[in-house]
Amino acid sequence: MLDLIVVGGGASGLMAAIAAAKRGKSVLILEKTDRCGKKIAITGKGRCNITNAEPIDDFYGHFGRNGLFLKDAFKTLDNKALEAFFRHLGLATVTERGGRVFPESQKASDVLRTLLDYAWELGVDIKTNCRCASFIQDEETKEIKALLLEDGTKYCAKNYLLACGGASYPLTGSDGGGAKLASKLGHTIVPLRPALVPLVVEGDSASRFQGVSLKNVRASLLVNGKSKKSFFGEMLFTHFGLSGPIILSLSEEAGLYLEKGAKVAVSVDLKPALTMEQLELRLLRDIAALGSKQVKALLKELLPAKMIEPCLEDLALAKDKRVSQLDQKTRKALRSWLKELVFPISATRPLKEAIVTAGGVKLKEIDPTTMRSRIVPNLLVTGELLDLAADTGGYNLQAAFSTGYLAGSKL
Ligand SMILES: Cc1cc2nc3c(=O)[nH]c(=O)nc-3n(C[C@H](O)[C@H](O)[C@H](O)COP(=O)(O)OP(=O)(O)OC[C@H]3O[C@@H](n4cnc5c(N)ncnc54)[C@H](O)[C@@H]3O)c2cc1C
Repeated sequence: MLDLIVVGGGASGLMAAIAAAKRGKSVLILEKTDRCGKKIAITGKGRCNITNAEPIDDFYGHFGRNGLFLKDAFKTLDNKALEAFFRHLGLATVTERGGRVFPESQKASDVLRTLLDYAWELGVDIKTNCRCASFIQDEETKEIKALLLEDGTKYCAKNYLLACGGASYPLTGSDGGGAKLASKLGHTIVPLRPALVPLVVEGDSASRFQGVSLKNVRASLLVNGKSKKSFFGEMLFTHFGLSGPIILSLSEEAGLYLEKGAKVAVSVDLKPALTMEQLELRLLRDIAALGSKQVKALLKELLPAKMIEPCLEDLALAKDKRVSQLDQKTRKALRSWLKELVFPISATRPLKEAIVTAGGVKLKEIDPTTMRSRIVPNLLVTGELLDLAADTGGYNLQAAFSTGYLAGSKL
């Protein structure tokens, strides 16, 4: 009998299969789509941000209150070990801004190819177009006796691992079906919700800047007028609202507060390097230098072109107003516009558009030292199907790889 059947050939399932096969276990991966790793192939805009180079102890904070669940998984395969794993298989990596680690080739497909080649070399059997539909369980012990595909084909193994991912980007195969399977087996599912998802802004306050992308700005999440969290970095304006790394990082919390009926907004600081006082001095300097020129010339120094007209409109400034005519009150309004540009949020974009799914199999029901279910004796659960979601920066893939590796190596 097979030692392990892995349901789902994504990042976590492939890594689990590799770890188990390395220890001489017989492994079969059942993947429901026509190819393994469809999501890996689109990660990091096709470049795959494999992990992050920061100290592993700093990773936990990126997973919110559930981070410590990953202690044993990260002990078994941390970020340095993951890089070494890929290097050993001929895939060199590079570290970019923010500690983000990518394959040197800049191709996510190379990461996938490396995993598939190694799995093949280790004798892992992979069957695609095989959707796991249900399990047959012993009524008393709850042990899984067999797995059934949707066409009724039956597979048996000593152990079964669910690595079906979340419910975002369903075309990659992860469509929430894994949570349903786990629920049918008796697991509690923390409701699935979008994490790392763009935010929809009420009215046209953001869409009028559509296409503008900003670097080195700070975005803060305001809940009922109070700042809860902020991130520094890149963001962009879209036809529906706000997107880009720092917005995605605020999104899970924004979604939770919206569900509770709170008033949610994002405040953007376009000049985070300057305090209000320093900005006032800068404005006074620019005004002195520009003198009789039109206000537009001043704004050109401060803003991307597409933001100038809306700024003039918001401040009710005539286009031909001279810089020298800017009084203290107008300068104050301009400073607020530059440092506290507020966008009321009406919703997050849907779960299917999220980079990561929050919620999933309740962590208390999984042993973090082995990834074994505490409910079904011969079941393991890994990857995004678990109630884990992290910031952008390579943390989500590291968690998928590490939990998979731990499960496979403790079999
Ligand atoms: C656009 C995008 C970009 C991203 N970029 C990054 C990044 O650069 N860095 C990062 O750290 N994270 C990134 N992520 C997140 C990361 O890709 C996921 O967290 C990670 O892939 C989760 O791995 P997984 O193996 O748990 O699930 P998945 O990769 O989703 O794999 C699950 C697999 O299970 C299969 N499956 C599901 N149900 C069944 C079933 N019933 N039977 C058989 N097979 C089944 C699916 O077809 C799929 O192949 C990105 C996500 C998206 C959507």
